[in-house]
Amino acid sequence: SSRAVPADDGSWRVTGQKIFITYGDHDLTPNIIHFVLARTPGSPPGTKGISLFLVPKVLVNDNGSLGEPNDVSTVSIEHKLGIHGSPTCVMSFGDAGEGAVGYMIGEENGGMRAMFTMMNDARVAVGLEGLAISERSYQQALTYAQERRQGRAVGADPTQSSPIIEHPDVRRMLMTMKSTIEAMRALIYLNAASIDRAHSAASDDEQARASRVADLLTPISKAWSTDMGVELTSVGIQVNGGMGYVEEAGSAQHFRDARIAPIYEGTNGIQAIDLVMRKLPMDGGEFVRGFIEELHEVPRTLEERGLEDIGRPLAAGLVALLEATDWLLGCDDVNDRLAGASPYLRLAGVVIGGVLLGKQALAADQLGEKAKVATARFFAGQIVPAVGGLIPAITAGAGDLFALDAQELGG
Ligand SMILES: Cc1cc2nc3c(=O)[nH]c(=O)nc-3n(C[C@H](O)[C@H](O)[C@H](O)COP(=O)(O)OP(=O)(O)OC[C@H]3O[C@@H](n4cnc5c(N)ncnc54)[C@H](O)[C@@H]3O)c2cc1C
Repeated sequence: SSRAVPADDGSWRVTGQKIFITYGDHDLTPNIIHFVLARTPGSPPGTKGISLFLVPKVLVNDNGSLGEPNDVSTVSIEHKLGIHGSPTCVMSFGDAGEGAVGYMIGEENGGMRAMFTMMNDARVAVGLEGLAISERSYQQALTYAQERRQGRAVGADPTQSSPIIEHPDVRRMLMTMKSTIEAMRALIYLNAASIDRAHSAASDDEQARASRVADLLTPISKAWSTDMGVELTSVGIQVNGGMGYVEEAGSAQHFRDARIAPIYEGTNGIQAIDLVMRKLPMDGGEFVRGFIEELHEVPRTLEERGLEDIGRPLAAGLVALLEATDWLLGCDDVNDRLAGASPYLRLAGVVIGGVLLGKQALAADQLGEKAKVATARFFAGQIVPAVGGLIPAITAGAGDLFALDAQELGG
């Protein structure tokens, strides 16, 4: 791990190597500022002994001009599956001498806390990557489906082939993409707004509540949206048929680029663990139970307004979500809870996203906006019911996962 020792002038000398540094080096700007976690002499073991340092690529003179290069070097740039516009670097600090010049940010040994301030926002931003790339993939797939002619749709002119958008299976793919994207967007908007309200809501109580909503939703926004990013960009390829597999059509790049988002900023497996082990137990589980109860207001109102075909599956989804939540909160065996974490996160993403889409449908219905209502109806009626089938995986415990030992898995 990287180390930092104090220098006479109040700065520090940082040594060590870091891998996987996004934009660790590039020539887009004259200087690059690195945030580096490192241990100081005599620091306690584990994450409690890590401090945060600012290490510039080029040292800055007192008058603000650029001075000598710092002892920071790029060892290599990774060759990756996707995101080829983003250099992923192995960086070395202090190779040439006593160490790279660094400046401590915050307090000594307070590095992890400082990093988490940044990482929580970054997790929502990576969730947004999943959403954004899905949207781009959808736009590309939609255009292709409107232009490409193949086969003859039921009832179409027998002398001509039909645009593939007229085939039910292509419609299914497009509606799956469109509705999931809108559900993700609703979830991420609520998450981002909650982060803002946690800082700026009128009262302390509102700020505290918003902060808890943000805490609960952040792992879901990150992991569900990026998992969907991979799944939906794959659907986008499928809409393109054989051309989807050919680079020049563009949809293959979306799929390759989407694949990093479930991995970085904490893998989606780690997000699910965060959700189940840290977020669900907030306030002894009362916060998440109350949050789910409040969401029931949406299906109730949908039913009152004659939109029960949207409201009923959403209400059933919320019942399933509460059942899974209660099971996890009541389970004493840590491994059993960990085993259910990822399917639980998926259930939560689909149900909460679906309810938020249902809420949008209520507003859209009053304005006569047909598209939103139809999209919410598809998602509630055809996507939400499927995740009720995750309950057995969430509540099975770890037994089946460890039925074969590490050796037997190869047999
Ligand atoms: C292109 C790219 C850019 C990156 N950019 C940056 C960057 O700028 N800054 C930075 O700091 N990092 C960056 N990273 C690092 C990235 O955040 C890590 O690779 C990621 O968090 C996973 O860590 P790991 O590679 O050590 O995988 P591992 O931790 O080895 O994980 C391997 C697998 O095991 C699972 N796993 C591990 N531990 C557990 C556990 N306790 N319980 C259950 N499952 C577990 C994981 O979910 C995963 O499926 C980047 C990585 C890549 C590929």
